[in-house]
Amino acid sequence: MTEEAAPHVPCDPNLGPQEMEEAIRRWVGEYAARHGWRLNPDQKVLDVVIRGLTRNCRKFGKPYCPCRLRSGDPEKDREIECPCIFHRNEIGSDGHCHCNLFFSAPQAGEQG
Ligand code: SF4
Repeated sequence: MTEEAAPHVPCDPNLGPQEMEEAIRRWVGEYAARHGWRLNPDQKVLDVVIRGLTRNCRKFGKPYCPCRLRSGDPEKDREIECPCIFHRNEIGSDGHCHCNLFFSAPQAGEQG
């Protein structure tokens, strides 16, 4: 039995821009919680990333990372559909993903 592919940020073409942005915001929040992470506590940066994901969803039909370059090859660019294949390692080593969307949970005593 093969393992199911990791779920990605939803790009529902039936949603308007505002609704899509809200759906993405909900999805990433739930995804972070499920993994014991948190979203960027800086609301402004968080909004920029979520808007970037929404824009890519609307433009390409795929939630490409707003902080990574697309190659233009859909097969290869699957790697950078959010959550990308790199985020776990980045959160583990840097405390956050490249785009500063997902953060590791704060340590005890840390503000956050
Ligand atoms: S770097 Fe972060 S925002 Fe970008 S695709 Fe990976 S998980 Fe998503």
